Amino acid sequence: MGIADTHAHLCDPAFDPDLDQVLERAKAAGLSAVIAVGENMKDAEKNLALAALYPMVHAAAGLYPTYIDLGLAGKMRDFIRSNKEKLAAIGEVGLDYWIVKEETEREIQREIFRSFIDLSLELNLPLNVHSRSAGRHAVDVLLERAARKVQLHAFDGKVLAAQPAVEAGFFFSIPASIVRSEQKQKLVKKLPLSCLLIETDSPVLGPASRERNEPANAVIAVKAIAELKGIHEAEVMEAVEENVRRLYGTLFS
Ligand SMILES: [Zn+2]
Repeated sequence: MGIADTHAHLCDPAFDPDLDQVLERAKAAGLSAVIAVGENMKDAEKNLALAALYPMVHAAAGLYPTYIDLGLAGKMRDFIRSNKEKLAAIGEVGLDYWIVKEETEREIQREIFRSFIDLSLELNLPLNVHSRSAGRHAVDVLLERAARKVQLHAFDGKVLAAQPAVEAGFFFSIPASIVRSEQKQKLVKKLPLSCLLIETDSPVLGPASRERNEPANAVIAVKAIAELKGIHEAEVMEAVEENVRRLYGTLFS
């Protein structure tokens, strides 16, 4: 086992020219798995194709929260049900109050999010959750729906908003952009190692904001967590490996 990048957009056209090399570099950096998340049906289909091609890639399927469309959400749920054996997670799904400001649209967003939480419980698949400017709200909906397997990706909320999620056994995936985010540094200092995962959100959220990010940069997040917590990198690696096993089961063993 090695590091798992638990949230990357390998289906992004930014990786079309050189995905082979990107994954070779990831392996060389010590990664053993990448969870390929998606935003829509096209991404979901591409992720399944990538997972069939590359053993280290595990596919996820979801509808990005800025799609305010119950019909599309229903089609995505059908797709997930019919491909559940091939999927590692449902994602990304969640809430985005940064883009969606209208209360009526936010209510539809919550309704769609609830439907994916219910599907996660029905199929016993982990949720890979986006919660931009809606950390507290996403946690509220997850708790109210009694979600069980949850990864909050690039959580931008306060430590106080994260606390009930920690108590519920949810996980927080930390991107390499932590090196330039005071909010994420604060979060990592306060959260227990037992709830942390590593992600990259490639091709975005890299250590430098304008450059293409890639899974190999997951090691930057490991290093940053070790420094912030004043512990050895090996201890962080061991903990996140164990956390991946707890959330994703035998997928990576
Ligand atoms: Zn993402």
